[in-house]
Amino acid sequence: MTANNAKTQQWQAMSRDHHLAPFSDFKQLAEKGPRIITRGEGVHLWDSEGNKILDGMAGLWCLAVGYGREELVEAASKQMRELPFYNTFFQTAHPPVLELAKALAEVTPAGMNHVFFTGSGSEGNDTMLRMVRHYWSLKGKPNKKVVIARENGYHGSTVAGASLGGMKGMHEQGDLPIPGIVHIAQPYWFGQGGDMTPEAFGIWAADELEKKILEVGEDNVAAFLAEPIQGAGGVIIPPDSYWPRVREILAKYDILFVADEVICGFGRTGEWFGSDFYGNKPDMMTIAKGLTSGYVPMGGLVVRDEIVKVLNDGGDFNHGFTYSGHPVAAAVALENIRILREEKIIEQVREETAPYLQKRLRELADHPLVGEVRGVGMLGAIELVKDKATRARYPSDKAVGMICRGHCFENGLIMRAVGDTMIISPPLVISKSEIDELVEKARKCLDLTARALLA
Ligand SMILES: *Cc1c(COP(=O)(O)O)cnc(C)c1O
Repeated sequence: MTANNAKTQQWQAMSRDHHLAPFSDFKQLAEKGPRIITRGEGVHLWDSEGNKILDGMAGLWCLAVGYGREELVEAASKQMRELPFYNTFFQTAHPPVLELAKALAEVTPAGMNHVFFTGSGSEGNDTMLRMVRHYWSLKGKPNKKVVIARENGYHGSTVAGASLGGMKGMHEQGDLPIPGIVHIAQPYWFGQGGDMTPEAFGIWAADELEKKILEVGEDNVAAFLAEPIQGAGGVIIPPDSYWPRVREILAKYDILFVADEVICGFGRTGEWFGSDFYGNKPDMMTIAKGLTSGYVPMGGLVVRDEIVKVLNDGGDFNHGFTYSGHPVAAAVALENIRILREEKIIEQVREETAPYLQKRLRELADHPLVGEVRGVGMLGAIELVKDKATRARYPSDKAVGMICRGHCFENGLIMRAVGDTMIISPPLVISKSEIDELVEKARKCLDLTARALLA
């Protein structure tokens, strides 16, 4: 990004000289310099050049309650004064972690009353991999080790997280996936449905699970792991036929079902969890991001009572992170949940703002570049295509999604590009007038992108 401000130039030099940034081309970033974000308030950010930007991605799917909530700052500073850190290993605990565990049990689905805390979503999924295998060993079925996940799913960036995820680019670096993790097709009709109807394709994609269970052998499968709606993969909303069919299949086999709720959890779909939205009954749920609205790092794994009962008879679970249940993170998460409940933010999403966002977003479907607009709750995707009828893309070297993302940034809107799929996930507190701002800016950037493609 071009820097006019001397301070921006200094920060960009620090980036070039010292910072290795995640999911970035180091060399390219050093040449271009990062955009420096300096402040946030509500749904808006400011950069070091003084530009005001509507954050259509809620940080990175995190900011449920928006930027600038003093109550969260207060909760953190109060806890830091009282007890900034103590561990939860070896039979100790502290009030915030216990109060948070109880508050979570009140909002998670019935029968899921225990949580193992971690520092991130990736660590939540690592914990899951170890816990499901330990569970099956305790049940006398030590061969049940394989986890079935999905292509183009995202489950984090640790060795287990990246292995469970189905991102080709991540698998290529570092010899992943590790053994014992296999992948099935994703329910991405727009990209892969071919001539099938969405309904037929949803059934086909669900049946891939049953095929894989039979291929690996039920006696070897520990769990099926999936995001209710794939986030990082491109806000992939399964056809309506998908989850009911998956539930039928899961009912036939003795394997655990794990929902990765890191994005869908804490109101993103207009329900507390994506599993509530679809009527799914997971045995475990990975949580992070919206848990603290991103103000401090925290993740966890919510576990069904029947599983806890088995684990209770298993002696020590030899697993944990220094920051499992960190008191400051727990205090912030507790306050974040209090705000979500008392301000009825999720009800407001479900009844008011999400229907409005979804209606306004779909107005963009008439744009010549747009092949499909889809969304649920405060999630949305806009597919950019060369041919609306055939869903044909532009050649990938045109980088249409990146062109569009660039125009968005230049015009005060953050939309993320996953290939040529533009995605949004704004803070849950976005108002109707801010939704108007988002959609108007998005249309302008689609126009600019179309013009750039003609040039
Ligand atoms: C972000 C994300 C993760 C990983 O969380 P980290 O906190 O980055 O480790 C896992 N699963 C899903 C669905 C995510 O979106």
